[in-house]
Amino acid sequence: MPSDLSQDPNVRLLTQWIDESERITVLTGAGISTDSGIPDFRGPNGVWTKNPKAEKASNIQNFISDPEVRKASWRDRLDNRAWSADPNDGHRALVQLEKRNKLVALLTQNVDGLHHAAGSSATKVVEVHGTIREVACLECDYRDDMQIALDRVRQGEEDLDCPECGGILKSATISFGQSLVQKDLLKAEAAAQNCDLMIAIGTTLAVYPIAAVVPSAQRVGAKIAIINAEPTEMDHIADLVIRESISEVLPIAVGGASSLPEEDNNGDAETPK
Ligand SMILES: [Zn+2]
Repeated sequence: MPSDLSQDPNVRLLTQWIDESERITVLTGAGISTDSGIPDFRGPNGVWTKNPKAEKASNIQNFISDPEVRKASWRDRLDNRAWSADPNDGHRALVQLEKRNKLVALLTQNVDGLHHAAGSSATKVVEVHGTIREVACLECDYRDDMQIALDRVRQGEEDLDCPECGGILKSATISFGQSLVQKDLLKAEAAAQNCDLMIAIGTTLAVYPIAAVVPSAQRVGAKIAIINAEPTEMDHIADLVIRESISEVLPIAVGGASSLPEEDNNGDAETPK
């Protein structure tokens, strides 16, 4: 049976809230990108569920101390799904939200770069866990395009060093054990305190410190809406929880109440004949 989410009371309520809000901060996680074919981490088809070595590489101490972990990591990068993935309707809806001049910031835990690819402004997107589209040196400030590094891997290099200082090169993502970028965290916290609606999308809100932006927004009086397939750590404080498909809900909710169909009244109401 095709779902008609435009009749879902929760989706209609979110649509109304987006219409009424002037300053919206959005936080996205892996769930917004699964419809682009990028697997999440710990789900049944998750990257770490299927490949425990990848989880090992995600810990900075293992990455630094073990050349074999680094070599495996670079080999995995070559065929990362993100290189061929396209943004989906969920990413595109958030571009529309920005065009409605309501978006304070688009905070994302994702490292896939799909918000940028969809057309969200670099000034709005805060990639709190970094990006796989660039590489960074662990010793100096060297940064470059990931594809340049991958060309070196294709040409036979197994373990990449920094062209400037010889230090260890790594994707510009924040691994476990690495500090987050302070200015990004401050920007995220400021966006949380400056919104009247916080929408958390496709994240279980279990990863700190970024998950703390949700209670921060609530403390300043913002409404909290959560869209996620699974229960989250913060469902109990949310004003609205939607469990439907992100790439279907967002285009409807961002489209505005004026584009919603008439409400179905096929319940108890008497239809005049
Ligand atoms: Zn360097």
